[in-house]
Amino acid sequence: MPEQSSPLDLAEGDPFGPHHLPYGVFSTPEHPDDRRVGVRIGGHVLDAGAAAQALGSPYARLLAQPGLMPLLAAGRTAWRDVRRALTAWVTVPAHRPDIEPLLHPLDAVTMHLPYEVADYVDFYASEHHATNVGRIFRPDGAALTPNWKHLPIGYHGRAGTVVVSGTEVVRPSGQRKAPSDPVPVFGPSVKLDIEAEVGFVVGVPSRQGSPVALGDFREHVFGLSLLNDWSARDIQAWEYVPLGPFLGKSFATSVSAWVTPLEALDAARTAPPARDVGLLPYLDDADEEEPGGFDIRISVAINGQVVSEPPFSSMYWTAAQQLAQMTVNGASLRTGDLYGSGTVSGAEPGERGSLLELTWNGRDPLDLPEGKRTFLEDGDTVTLSAWAPGPHGTRVELGEVTGRIVPAR
Ligand code: MN
Repeated sequence: MPEQSSPLDLAEGDPFGPHHLPYGVFSTPEHPDDRRVGVRIGGHVLDAGAAAQALGSPYARLLAQPGLMPLLAAGRTAWRDVRRALTAWVTVPAHRPDIEPLLHPLDAVTMHLPYEVADYVDFYASEHHATNVGRIFRPDGAALTPNWKHLPIGYHGRAGTVVVSGTEVVRPSGQRKAPSDPVPVFGPSVKLDIEAEVGFVVGVPSRQGSPVALGDFREHVFGLSLLNDWSARDIQAWEYVPLGPFLGKSFATSVSAWVTPLEALDAARTAPPARDVGLLPYLDDADEEEPGGFDIRISVAINGQVVSEPPFSSMYWTAAQQLAQMTVNGASLRTGDLYGSGTVSGAEPGERGSLLELTWNGRDPLDLPEGKRTFLEDGDTVTLSAWAPGPHGTRVELGEVTGRIVPAR
């Protein structure tokens, strides 16, 4: 009889190999209400809590849970120790009899939002994106606002409408007023867009009144995932002056079902672009030990057709600077806080992270097999995927984030 192959025998270079081990929360069709922490290995999900219990691990209290909150709150030493234990469970042959029965094929489970999103903040950190948007909306003015190179600009979004990848997105309705309209009109958005972003997940809280320094980024931030900041450009354009994004963004934000721990991305750290102006000390990262950027290559697909490949390494502001900015006034962090990088756009036209930029606000439609696209149509599916360099020449593939547009209700 031929020896049966194990789900733990992965193809060489599998981007979900033991060097990655992203976390998620799953349920099975047999027990739909029983949510469990899962760790992805190859094409399977390991029931991490059951594994911890089967092996008598002290981390069962962090992993035998319906969500990631206890692990997020546990802090950097625990994150490292749990990851070390998981690596052993999926690589040491002696553990296989205990581990193999706890592996579920990915297509046999339902993935859920892996943590309770506490506060949600979104930034505007790509110079190319901000410049493009400035040129589109303020053709006669300076592309960047005077503050842009001095601080990472952001806004507070809506935590309660962050949804897991795969959740359908209902086309939002609202007020819009084109410059040629005499009065505003109400109806389904006609300029529904995407924003390809990376979202950072905060684990360890901070005390109100105490800013978090640049160098403490790794003490607080657990990991990252792809994020799609769905945006209704027509609603946004009419409402955003003078207080910023509101209903044009708050209807839905999609995140991947998988959170990649920062530890899996050590080989992807890279220096951000050169700074053009001197920064105030709380943002000045010139002397930081760890480079602030991440070399993450994003891909944006509409109905399976790749329309853009934004490079995250081109982001002007880093995640550590964003964390320092959002706490410098003493605002506190909570476990489960999520902050988006802002739309990722590179220097080239094929690297833009929104349809607003890719079609220049509808002027230059994209040619898709289904026809021309300026903004999203009902039935369109948008999928963000990405990879980053892993250790020893491997790749780390971020969990995808996908969503289909359904008609306004
Ligand atoms: Mn955004």
